[in-house]
Amino acid sequence: MSLLGRGLRDLHIPSRCAVCGVWPTAAPTTPWCADCLAHWAASTARCQRCARRLESSARICGLCLTHPPALDQCIAAVDYAFPWPAQVHKLKGLSGASWGRPLARLMTQAWLTHAQLRPGTQTIWAPIPLHWRRLMQRGHNQSWSLLRHIAQSEAFQSTDSAAPDLLERPQPHEVQHQLDRAARQRNTRFAFELNQVWSNALHTDCPIHVVLIDDVYTTGATLNAAAKVIKAHGPITVSALVFARTPPVESQ
Ligand SMILES: [Zn+2]
Ligand SMILES: [Zn+2]
Repeated sequence: MSLLGRGLRDLHIPSRCAVCGVWPTAAPTTPWCADCLAHWAASTARCQRCARRLESSARICGLCLTHPPALDQCIAAVDYAFPWPAQVHKLKGLSGASWGRPLARLMTQAWLTHAQLRPGTQTIWAPIPLHWRRLMQRGHNQSWSLLRHIAQSEAFQSTDSAAPDLLERPQPHEVQHQLDRAARQRNTRFAFELNQVWSNALHTDCPIHVVLIDDVYTTGATLNAAAKVIKAHGPITVSALVFARTPPVESQ
């Protein structure tokens, strides 16, 4: 598809709901109308460790109880299901950096509603990085585009810091969504390295909490691989805040 074609496909007419196309009567503050937000982005109970939607009052799902993930906490704004894949696709498009703002707003709301925070910790927010080749293709890292907006919200405390280069991705990555779960685990095992500057900064007497930002949690392989690399540097709590959580296969 040509650049012009991609630009037109990603075009969104301001004021019209980007999902149902209605013209809201009040001045819109998001690209989505109130009805669509209430229907598709309602807050829901999720597993604290993997953000899987839970039907019971349990706080942690059975899979995370039997196989605890490296992530201590995972918060998701929505399920990766209609209408959100198309909205995430816009984030990765040519004008994606600005499209991060409304997605980040939903992530901020989810974080403020569900995150468990321990007082007295030093919080460092970091995006899941792209390999430089992917970054050149896309023109921006969608996770950093989301974090830039979150860093301007109430979720970001005055003592927090944003570390766009906390993690590095020296190896080129294959297209993750084309791989099965086992292949994803292999593909991400050596995917991340901790930036040397930050590895020194993480050795401190103050408890450290790292919050990883990503657009979509699919199998959790990427985020948990990143969490493992960080945790290898000390007793660090690692959370993830993602826009969308892919529902497990059995619940689709
Ligand atoms: Zn709508
Ligand atoms: Zn879980």
